[in-house]
Amino acid sequence: MNKSLITGGAGFLGSHLCDRLIKDGHDVLCVDNFFTGSKANVAHLLSHPRFELIRHDVTFPLYVEVDQIYNLACPASPVHYQHDPVQTTKTSVHGAINMLGLAKRVKARILQASTSEVYGDPAVHPQTEDYWGNVNPIGPRSCYDEGKRCAETLFFDYHRQNNVDIKVVRIFNTYGPRMHPNDGRVVSNFIVQALKGQDITIYGNGSQTRSFCYVDDLIEGFVRMMGTEAGFTGPINIGNPFEFTMLELAEKVIKTVGGKSKLVFMPLPTDDPKQRQPNITLAKDKLGWQPTVQLDDGLKETTAYFRKLLNA
Ligand code: NAD
Ligand code: UDP
Ligand code: UDP
Repeated sequence: MNKSLITGGAGFLGSHLCDRLIKDGHDVLCVDNFFTGSKANVAHLLSHPRFELIRHDVTFPLYVEVDQIYNLACPASPVHYQHDPVQTTKTSVHGAINMLGLAKRVKARILQASTSEVYGDPAVHPQTEDYWGNVNPIGPRSCYDEGKRCAETLFFDYHRQNNVDIKVVRIFNTYGPRMHPNDGRVVSNFIVQALKGQDITIYGNGSQTRSFCYVDDLIEGFVRMMGTEAGFTGPINIGNPFEFTMLELAEKVIKTVGGKSKLVFMPLPTDDPKQRQPNITLAKDKLGWQPTVQLDDGLKETTAYFRKLLNA
């Protein structure tokens, strides 16, 4: 039996993971409350005999029988996770407890979609997995950052206390088709703005950096991590180490999309990290993984998706 549960499976990353696991021959159980995800992202799988979709909120218990669990449920865009911050923390913390309780009962292997946000506004650059981070515990981003940090704590305590077979992946900024057009994250914002001929909104002076991973690369890293030997828990960074300023990203998007968009500068959100770049030595060593898609190519794919979606 190869039955995989994907929480947050109707979201951006989750829906790509559903595709990949169906292709690999798994039975896939997709669980989502459709807060930021949608049925449309998995519509093409609904008639597949090995695919099942359940509307469910992971802050409530879930009793199913599965072999492995990918725990992705959680809004990922600052705009969305700050909309109902209490629910965001509940999703990470109660969601982790429920999925770990499930993993413990059915003896399933469980992978947590953690985040580079556990490093906060990092004082170590590039970030290695042994860096403990620099996170504000009481700011507007804390519901997400601290929720994800507490989820990691729960994963390691269920591992030590109950011998649950865990894998923790720290995902760095990932983009691609099926991001929501109103997602609010920078790549989708810039592409949608450029396609509509609107101004490109740079927060702050645009000198802050991020490192962008294309979704297909990320999913490959997920699957490889899930397949590692028992006892290899991570945490492991998965991301693309090429670092860009937001001004550089805006230039690339304008070049890819074309059009006449201008840059407008808006206030920098509170606690916005100044720089971010993964050190992926561990992923290279343990998974034989590194990203293969360059930002220019990934932006072309993502632009084609939004062009079709928006009829632009
Ligand atoms: P997304 O918002 O598209 O997907 C999140 C999914 O979780 C959505 O389908 C949403 O409806 C669902 N969800 C939210 N709360 C839920 C709840 N209480 N119960 C059930 N379902 C719930 O975002 P994404 O980019 O696909 O992110 C997926 C995961 O990866 C998240 O856990 C996120 O924190 C993590 N992550 C993503 C990135 C990235 O750059 N994309 C970076 C770091 C971490
Ligand atoms: N849980 C779940 N599905 C299961 C088993 C447990 O959702 O198949 C939930 C259960 O509701 C509990 C949580 O996971 O609140 C933690 O389970 P655990 O067994 O660790 O704790 P306990 O039940 O002893 O509080
Ligand atoms: N950002 C921006 N314009 C936008 C959206 C985001 O300049 O329209 C900036 C944001 O301030 C941050 C970076 O882009 O410095 C990445 O933001 P995103 O929300 O995508 O992810 P995160 O901050 O969680 O890495």
